[in-house]
Amino acid sequence: MRPFTYSRATSLDQAISESGHPHSAIMAGGTTLVDLMRGDLTGADQVIDIAHIPGLAEIEVEGETLRFGALARMADVAENTFLKHNYPALVESLQLAASQQIRNAATLGGNLLQRTRCVYFRDGVSDCNQRTPGSGCAALDGEDREMALFGTSDRCIATYPGDWGTALAAFDTTIEIASDSGRRVVDFADFHTAYGEDPARLSILRPGEIVTAILVKATPSGKRSTYIKVRDRQSYAYALTSAAVALETDGETVIAARVALGGVASKPWRAQAAEAVLIGRRLDEALAIEAGHAAFTDAKPLRHNQFKIELGARTVARAALVAKGKI
Ligand SMILES: Cc1cc2nc3c(=O)[nH]c(=O)nc-3n(C[C@H](O)[C@H](O)[C@H](O)COP(=O)(O)OP(=O)(O)OC[C@H]3O[C@@H](n4cnc5c(N)ncnc54)[C@H](O)[C@@H]3O)c2cc1C
Repeated sequence: MRPFTYSRATSLDQAISESGHPHSAIMAGGTTLVDLMRGDLTGADQVIDIAHIPGLAEIEVEGETLRFGALARMADVAENTFLKHNYPALVESLQLAASQQIRNAATLGGNLLQRTRCVYFRDGVSDCNQRTPGSGCAALDGEDREMALFGTSDRCIATYPGDWGTALAAFDTTIEIASDSGRRVVDFADFHTAYGEDPARLSILRPGEIVTAILVKATPSGKRSTYIKVRDRQSYAYALTSAAVALETDGETVIAARVALGGVASKPWRAQAAEAVLIGRRLDEALAIEAGHAAFTDAKPLRHNQFKIELGARTVARAALVAKGKI
């Protein structure tokens, strides 16, 4: 492990001014960062702990917007009664992520910014354009069962692992970011950068920028939403495939739909082709399966992950039917 300095920020301004260095790392719950540092996977030699900055952990409803402070604990959001009733996809994605112990320590901002679980990135020695730009990608000729179908390139085929990000992609979400030049708000769709384009970059964040909040537009489709996750073990495992679906219905007919995919892409992935199939039609099992297959029309399978196409389509179909049945 490389030597590093540690400081505990007591204000946002302090954290911003100390994190402008390219080799600095923000620490929130530390459940990902400490692992990455143990494996020397970050290049960071300066850690700024933001966990004790006041005012960044609240969950609030501000008019038409749900505001999640970046330091809100995964466990607190997963157990929030208002959200369970009104935005089930958001809480379900967190209930199915990691373990209770990790959720007690981990934050929403940290969850969004966790690094890939690609074994070649994590082993610290294989060629990996995410870890060492220009070194190549060992996964291309390696074990690709868990790799991505969307957002890949000949430089990186890793998946984005987070569940919360997938659920957020099924809503109108924006990310609030603070820096020494003030605050900016970016669309969630633009926040993560697909690894295929620039494997070393996970998001649009620049040194000295800190995520302060995640903003979700309040919508009637929140009530009819769900997050379904398929994994090798029933708990404590990342998604092979997952789907978040949020629907607005008029009787049996879908009038608005958002579909997002997890476990299959280099960033949280919105499946607009599936949404187009659902909108304006009566949702039954046949339509749900049609939508599921539409979601994977543009998938680029590798040698061992072809199975994710049918599995993913069925995951979307199940999520659509479960979402319809809510309330
Ligand atoms: C064994 C295990 C199993 C897991 N399983 C799952 C799973 O199934 N699903 C899932 O979604 N996750 C899973 N996780 C990941 C876990 O959810 C993350 O470790 C956690 O959410 C990270 O939150 P944190 O607050 O601890 O982040 P940290 O470790 O503190 O930070 C993570 C990253 O985010 C950056 N960061 C944190 N907060 C901010 C901020 N406000 N602004 C800018 N940058 C910031 C840090 O610099 C770092 O790069 C698992 C983790 C482990 C160890």
